Amino acid sequence: MGGILVAIDGPAGSGKSSVARAVAGRLGVVNLNTGAAYRAAALLALREDVDLADGEGLAALARRVALDPEGATIDGARIGEHDLRSPEVSAAASKVSAHAPLREVLLPVQRAAAEKARAKGGAVVEGRDIGTVVLPDAELKVYLSAAPEERARRRAYQTGKEGELDRIKAALARRDRQDSEREISPLKPASDAVVLDTTSLSLEEVISRVLDLATDLREQT
Ligand code: C5P
Repeated sequence: MGGILVAIDGPAGSGKSSVARAVAGRLGVVNLNTGAAYRAAALLALREDVDLADGEGLAALARRVALDPEGATIDGARIGEHDLRSPEVSAAASKVSAHAPLREVLLPVQRAAAEKARAKGGAVVEGRDIGTVVLPDAELKVYLSAAPEERARRRAYQTGKEGELDRIKAALARRDRQDSEREISPLKPASDAVVLDTTSLSLEEVISRVLDLATDLREQT
């Protein structure tokens, strides 16, 4: 017997990370941020000068990446948030994640981390294809969306770069396009996901809606 798995998917700036962290905290389960694994693979590719178009080369790098509730490791060493979240790594992560060989390596890594967490009480797992591909049997699937303008504004505020709104908007639009138009595991809601448009909702409102859904589910099981 284990706990529940909650999948939270959505585009960059939809509030996924803040919502997943808060919901996991209030449910008393761990939060797995699967984007960290893609970011770690991208960081390695940049550091080791591996071509971002070389799917097999990238897959070899991804074998050195692990995922846990604290984030990602490379060759067992913890990677700091600062290194993982730079604009260069964000852009590269979106590129490397389009390669099937790399996704095939990271898929079992994500599933293993989720099952380990499930055995310890459950997890909130966030990403792009958690409800559709990684955990199609997750008990609850939520897809967060928001208007592009609003997502760019949130990202600018979050990173303290309000003066760079136009650049952030363009970078998000590029990532959106890459993530939703790729052939393998494109960003889209699972057919059984609850879709929440968060454009005019506060963070607290989104958190409480997801918590309500999770609580209803726990009561039923
Ligand atoms: O969620 P985050 O913005 O950190 O993810 C970075 C990139 O990793 C995304 O733009 C996406 O291309 C990729 N990703 C993915 N599948 C996931 C999580 C992230 O393709 N489950």
